[in-house]
Amino acid sequence: MPRSEPIKAVRGVRDLLPSQLPLWRAAEQAGVDVARQFGYEEIITPIVEHAELIERVGEDTDAVSKELYRFTDRGGRNLALRPEATAGVVRAYFEGGLNQGPQPSRLYLFGPMFRYDRPQKGRYRQFYQFNVEAIGSSAAGLDAEVIELAGDWLNEVGLQQLRLELNSIGDGKCRPAYLERLKEYYRPLKTQLGVDSQARLERNPLRLLDSKLPHEQAFKERAPKIVDHLCDECAAHWAAVRRLLDAAGTEYQINPYLVRGLDYYTRTVFEFYPGGATGQQDALASGGRYDGLAEAEGWPSTPGVGFAGGLDRVTDLMAAAGTEVATRPPADVLVLPDGDLAVEAAEVARLLRAVRPVAVDYESKSLAAKMRAANKLGAKWVVLLTPDDAKRHAAQIRDMTTGEQEELAWTELPTRLA
Ligand code: AMP
Repeated sequence: MPRSEPIKAVRGVRDLLPSQLPLWRAAEQAGVDVARQFGYEEIITPIVEHAELIERVGEDTDAVSKELYRFTDRGGRNLALRPEATAGVVRAYFEGGLNQGPQPSRLYLFGPMFRYDRPQKGRYRQFYQFNVEAIGSSAAGLDAEVIELAGDWLNEVGLQQLRLELNSIGDGKCRPAYLERLKEYYRPLKTQLGVDSQARLERNPLRLLDSKLPHEQAFKERAPKIVDHLCDECAAHWAAVRRLLDAAGTEYQINPYLVRGLDYYTRTVFEFYPGGATGQQDALASGGRYDGLAEAEGWPSTPGVGFAGGLDRVTDLMAAAGTEVATRPPADVLVLPDGDLAVEAAEVARLLRAVRPVAVDYESKSLAAKMRAANKLGAKWVVLLTPDDAKRHAAQIRDMTTGEQEELAWTELPTRLA
């Protein structure tokens, strides 16, 4: 009978192997450290949500309209794998009663997100984000705070050369009038626009500004800029955020084409790019204010601001920059029984685990083969156990760096290797 083909990983997803994880964990740990320094607490929300939660808040984004992992569960519920975390975090903020606690709620989250994107280098269907959200306040200080936090995180993982792009997209008060101006400007150009842009002209004109079509770039340059049409409150907020960034010595570029095509996004939007990268390069972290999101989800109107950083891309860049992270062998000690001594070897290992990570070689190989395996593993010590040693509850301990060997009683081992 022919052997069936081995079943491989799903297209667009990947394994993170032990050799990749030290760098990965370093990036996460830096996020945890920085978030805690700013007084943020961890939250974990499910990767499955009601599809409606995701759809209601993201209908006109690619992540939702084209890329949503949607399915019906066995109970007939219409569910989705989250394409981003903010919708779920805001839901949890209300459901978990965080809205009753001290405000704002400062939260961070690590976890996988899912988008049915075209897989390519740095772009996966299951990817991981570091999310930071400050919910329950509209203070400009928090916009600047999450920007600073994002920048500190990227610096902390060794990415020093960054470009920060910043814009304000107003709010429900000033944006409608601006959008009218934008439509008026674009209408005479309609026949010269691409198909997607033509469709966006009436439905979601803000997205005309993030068009990547080369021939539309000149149109964008002459288009009215939203920062010139902010209401007094939004203009004051925009000035306050910039003042705070200036005071912190944070450099940024105002990018009038940096937009979010959803109504609940308000005021500040920002993106961090690797330094030097231009054009269609993917952002390392992006975020902004979403004062209309809670209401869009059906909760009381509540402001919030945050960002999402991409761990896949950040760790790719760390690796490319040759970032060194301390790695340890999986076990410091390898117990090598010479013969049928599994019970005794397990007992010695158990004693030693009080002080060190310990592995046991249970294979029935020659002692020489086991020593070669120990070398490969990189264990610092090998504890050799012969039938004669085992009877006397003794063992030979070998320092793999110096080659020195001595005999010890089992009970002496933990103190010797502590
Ligand atoms: P977004 O939620 O689209 O603003 O993305 C936030 C961050 O997540 C981006 O800056 C990327 O670093 C990362 N990201 C988004 N989509 C993907 C993907 N398909 N694969 C890997 N990382 C992604």
